[in-house]
Amino acid sequence: MILFKKAADITAWLLKSKTAGKKIGFIPTMGALHPGHISLIKASKKAGSISVCSIFVNPAQFNDAKDFDNYPSTIEKDIDALEKAGCDILFLPSVSEMYPAGTGNAKTYNLGYLETVLEGKYRPGHFQGVCLVVHRLLNIIPADDLYLGQKDYQQCMVIKKLVELENINTTIHICPTLRETSGLAMSSRNMRLTEESQKQALKIFETLSYLKNNSKPGNLTALKQTAIDNLTNAGFKVNYIEIADAGNLDIINHWDGNSKLVAVAAAFLGEVRLIDNMLL
Ligand code: AMP
Repeated sequence: MILFKKAADITAWLLKSKTAGKKIGFIPTMGALHPGHISLIKASKKAGSISVCSIFVNPAQFNDAKDFDNYPSTIEKDIDALEKAGCDILFLPSVSEMYPAGTGNAKTYNLGYLETVLEGKYRPGHFQGVCLVVHRLLNIIPADDLYLGQKDYQQCMVIKKLVELENINTTIHICPTLRETSGLAMSSRNMRLTEESQKQALKIFETLSYLKNNSKPGNLTALKQTAIDNLTNAGFKVNYIEIADAGNLDIINHWDGNSKLVAVAAAFLGEVRLIDNMLL
């Protein structure tokens, strides 16, 4: 694996490979890698692309300074895991390399409704920060294919919108959420949970499964309220549990039985904020 820290160097190297007819698959991450991240590298490798992973904890997308300060970092282990997975390139930039002019005058992306609901509502500015970093990364890394995890369902929709808005010639692939055998969605933030609270965290998966098994055409508000009560009684501080249209994230209170739905959840367990989702 080749490690690049400078934007100009990796761009020059990748452009040369593209000229030689190679396809580039890109997997942006914030590190503290787990098998969920590695599954994205594997998807890119399966497509026969040069696989590029970036590790950058993007300050612009943290609306909570404490969350940024406590974000786990395991860089030596990450490099090992990437080598083992056969990743070709790691891009490991500094903040000044990513944002040489700072982020004070950053552009605003017109994300519309997507930015006003669910994660957008509870993490103001978060998706602007996500767009800023992904746009910059895609300027540096001329990716043919971008691999994202369904774990961050709304983020996938935001990045699809970014690619449309900016006419970026990159195909987006959404890969399934990898879970522990218990069902708990793998997440870098799980490292901040004790063994005991990892067991408790499983309640999110159980609640989403409950919604999946009990959604019927008609009114869904009582079902959603039961789900919120279940998580609250299990010791969570719930931000939201919602059932939404899987295509546009419109909140669904009355289901016609035809539209495709997704159940989404965000809740704090102590200081750790966890998110998960399930297609119904
Ligand atoms: P992050 O490092 O959390 O920014 O995530 C980097 C990428 O990995 C994003 O596209 C995530 O959606 C994806 N990802 C995170 N957790 C999982 C998981 N459990 N399964 C599959 N993909 C994941």
